[in-house]
Amino acid sequence: MRHGSIPGARGRVRPLTLFGDPVLGAPCAEVTDFGPALSRLVEDMFATMYAARGVGLAANQVGESLRVFVYDCPDDEDVRHLGHVVNPRLVETGGVVVRGPEGCLSLPGLEAGTERYDEAVVEGFTATGEPVTVRGTGFFARCLQHECDHLQGRLYVDRLTGWRRRRVLRRAARAPWNRAAREDAGES
Ligand SMILES: [Zn+2]
Repeated sequence: MRHGSIPGARGRVRPLTLFGDPVLGAPCAEVTDFGPALSRLVEDMFATMYAARGVGLAANQVGESLRVFVYDCPDDEDVRHLGHVVNPRLVETGGVVVRGPEGCLSLPGLEAGTERYDEAVVEGFTATGEPVTVRGTGFFARCLQHECDHLQGRLYVDRLTGWRRRRVLRRAARAPWNRAAREDAGES
């Protein structure tokens, strides 16, 4: 593989937006400009995702409220899935609903058992405007649903109820990254 074709190799690692940042709670805008700035954003998102050792990343996690996500994620058969989707639509979900451990780069160090469909199909476009269809099962289907949620302004914690939700919110409130963010904002 040529060096230049490795996703993220030319990208810039951007700061991650963290739980509590309003950009994570708002629906992202449709992409209308498929120009070089979009390709740069996708490159930066890959660089940021790899630097954070994530398996997926949505654009609002680097502060851009646009409907774009990237992924490099295994499924339950250890098949690697690598790509990006612009203006994704979750067109199909199916199979059994599985509660499995789920985390998010915007809530570092935390995870909770979250219910997701075992199968998901996403339709959208590449950064150059070519239509793409992405099919996932198992952990990769979970990733696709998680990233589509981000672009609607939803986090996995929004899908939790009861003690699972209370526990992750309590841990988020005590997390070192959250305390530091509050102090940066001048709150005590
Ligand atoms: Zn996430």
